[in-house]
Amino acid sequence: MKDFFELPTPSYTFEIFPPKGAKSLDGTYATIDNLASLSPDLISVTYGAGGSSRDNTVEIASGIQNKYGICGVAHLTCVGSTRENIWAILRLLKSNGVSNILALRGDLPEGEASLGDFHHASELISFIKKEEGDTFNLFAACYPEKHLEASSLEEDLRYLKEKCDLGVKGLITQLFYDNDIFCRWRDQARAAGIKQPIIAGIMPITSANQIDKIVTLCGASVPTRVQRFVDAYRHNSGAVREAGIAYATEQIIDLLARGVDGIHLYTMNQPDVVRRIDEGIRSILYSVRVKRA
Ligand SMILES: Cc1cc2nc3c(=O)[nH]c(=O)nc-3n(C[C@H](O)[C@H](O)[C@H](O)COP(=O)(O)OP(=O)(O)OC[C@H]3O[C@@H](n4cnc5c(N)ncnc54)[C@H](O)[C@@H]3O)c2cc1C
Repeated sequence: MKDFFELPTPSYTFEIFPPKGAKSLDGTYATIDNLASLSPDLISVTYGAGGSSRDNTVEIASGIQNKYGICGVAHLTCVGSTRENIWAILRLLKSNGVSNILALRGDLPEGEASLGDFHHASELISFIKKEEGDTFNLFAACYPEKHLEASSLEEDLRYLKEKCDLGVKGLITQLFYDNDIFCRWRDQARAAGIKQPIIAGIMPITSANQIDKIVTLCGASVPTRVQRFVDAYRHNSGAVREAGIAYATEQIIDLLARGVDGIHLYTMNQPDVVRRIDEGIRSILYSVRVKRA
């Protein structure tokens, strides 16, 4: 299995989530089987996102490595956790041979007040570095349209730089639909001294409800032509899904032309959608890799 830092540029990576509740992992492994056949450079596994179980993240990340020989990344959030909680997970990661972590703050469930021992992702990164040195390769999240809580893009970038200076090896962006916004922000991040690879997070639109929810949850800007299509065909789920696949494909091709460091597909555990996008970008991705090697 390759280490992330031996991977080609642009990298091509996927994100999946564990099942909700105490369900069996059979469905998740069927999804991974399907995704693994597309030879991604890495598959990351969310931790408690969208209400999914936290219990299986480490086991699935380990399975991705051991069963498929693909680099597995475990997401890890710290909000509401004690140092002991994080210690226990780090021990579990080590004993399962998982050495790649996407270190996150996470969000407290509505109504919960306790922050635990950590207030920001930087505190988690600093804790892992202090306790474990370079045992883990750490990644962090970043926000081309700024994090919703940040008062300005500049402030958000200052805190992002703090995470980078603690030794993060790569950044994965929040989903976005407007490449111009991403490229402008990437220039600002570089000007702020951020040197780490910035991997673009792409979430294909698969339904009108999904895009409504995304806009509310993370405030992503939706280009007029995309919103127009979704509004016009709101009740034709097949049409919205097809247009979403076409848009994500086009978005990725444009990012490849604009020198992106990597593409991270939020797969939503829908390998059929990923496969369609893959068909549209694969040969272009490989040509770009050859040119940039
Ligand atoms: C690629 C990706 C994957 C994700 N995966 C998951 C997942 O698996 N599970 C999950 O629950 N959530 C996940 N999330 C969501 C994430 O947990 C939330 O967006 C969360 O609100 C912020 O996490 P963070 O690590 O970016 O936080 P931080 O880096 O801590 O930033 C959060 C806010 O605090 C500010 N800030 C940072 N440091 C400081 C400081 N020192 N002082 C004052 N303010 C500061 C920032 O500007 C920002 O506004 C993911 C997000 C992304 C982009």
